[in-house]
Amino acid sequence: MEKSPVLAIVVPCYKEEAVLHEAHKRLSQLLNRLITEGHISPKSYILYVNDGSTDRTWDIIKDLHQNTPYACGLNLAGNVGHQNALMAGLNAVKERCDAAISIDADLQDDINVIPEMLERYREGCDIVYGVRRERKTDTFFKRTTALVFYRLMKLMGAKSVYNHADYRLMSSRAVRQLCRFRERNLYLRGLVPLIGYQTACVYYNRDKRFAGESKYPFKKMLNFAIDGITSFSVKPVRMIFWLGCIFILVAVCVTIWTLRAYFLHNTVPGWSSLMISLWLVGGAILVSLGIVGEYIGKIYIEVKDRPRYNEEELLLR
Ligand code: UDP
Ligand code: MG
Repeated sequence: MEKSPVLAIVVPCYKEEAVLHEAHKRLSQLLNRLITEGHISPKSYILYVNDGSTDRTWDIIKDLHQNTPYACGLNLAGNVGHQNALMAGLNAVKERCDAAISIDADLQDDINVIPEMLERYREGCDIVYGVRRERKTDTFFKRTTALVFYRLMKLMGAKSVYNHADYRLMSSRAVRQLCRFRERNLYLRGLVPLIGYQTACVYYNRDKRFAGESKYPFKKMLNFAIDGITSFSVKPVRMIFWLGCIFILVAVCVTIWTLRAYFLHNTVPGWSSLMISLWLVGGAILVSLGIVGEYIGKIYIEVKDRPRYNEEELLLR
């Protein structure tokens, strides 16, 4: 019989004292079931990553580690944000598991699809995305801003899976590849599709947070969205360039129109030259900015130092 895989569940936690006990109860029940049914190895575990919480989160994790099965912990020295905390967790488990699932501590994402994720994994998928079926539990505001954001990302040419947050299963080799991306502005949802490999989606309904409050206020969300777009696309810079070209085009029209006015009806002295130079200089500045931006965009791509490819198989003789 094929060996059952060691599963690591990675849970970033920031000030989650209100939800940890319940979350651990639910997750360990699930692990227990999966282990007795032989789907995963008894060595499977849950890694709680404490993202520099100032409340009792780490104490609770330590307590869970000592007194309950499956619980492991990683304490970060300070708050580094959800994406970095998740990355720290994945980095810690990459050599200690066969597959890793990342999920938020509030269990808003339905853990009952984990068996389905594992099934896809067994069928040969390296990455299984958890995708929300609908957004009924979200406020109207969050729903629309999210939609605008996904559209914008697509427009900017960044690959991303619609309605997928950071709930996903990754094989250990996919995690190892992800860890080769060394950039600091982490936007994991954009990076994971760059890995390649065979992928699949499982669909679920998202619940409300069962306790505690969201750690993603609007400002953080906005910053995250800006990070997402600017980390994956130099298109905004290119837009400056094209805007400059439009300005120059307008300048040509304005020139013709101004000269016509100048010769036909005696305009106020100075008006014509001002009109023409205004548009021409504006256009020239924008085009120059676009050109400089194009180089900066290149530097940006270089300093991110992303892996150029991911070798899946090499056949030699
Ligand atoms: N989180 C974190 N560091 C932070 C903010 C959030 O590790 O600085 C964790 C948090 O504990 C939770 C996950 O990221 O497990 C998602 O946060 P939350 O549920 O508050 O976001 P929302 O679901 O409201 O978007
Ligand atoms: Mg949440």
